[in-house]
Amino acid sequence: MAYYCRDCSYKGKKRAADGHCPACGSAKFYLQKAKTDPDKPETRKGSLVVLVLLWGYLIAHIYWKLYV
Ligand SMILES: [Zn+2]
Repeated sequence: MAYYCRDCSYKGKKRAADGHCPACGSAKFYLQKAKTDPDKPETRKGSLVVLVLLWGYLIAHIYWKLYV
């Protein structure tokens, strides 16, 4: 968890005693709840698709070997 300033884009674990940004003193200083990585969900989705495809391929192969 880290704090993020929207005025000067300061990022840090500390904040000023009054809750403002220690770099520029802005009140637009928020606690970032989670790491907002826009690439992560897409990568997860992609790897999930690959996993499903691989399992489908494997099952199809086993099925083909057994019944054809
Ligand atoms: Zn700031």
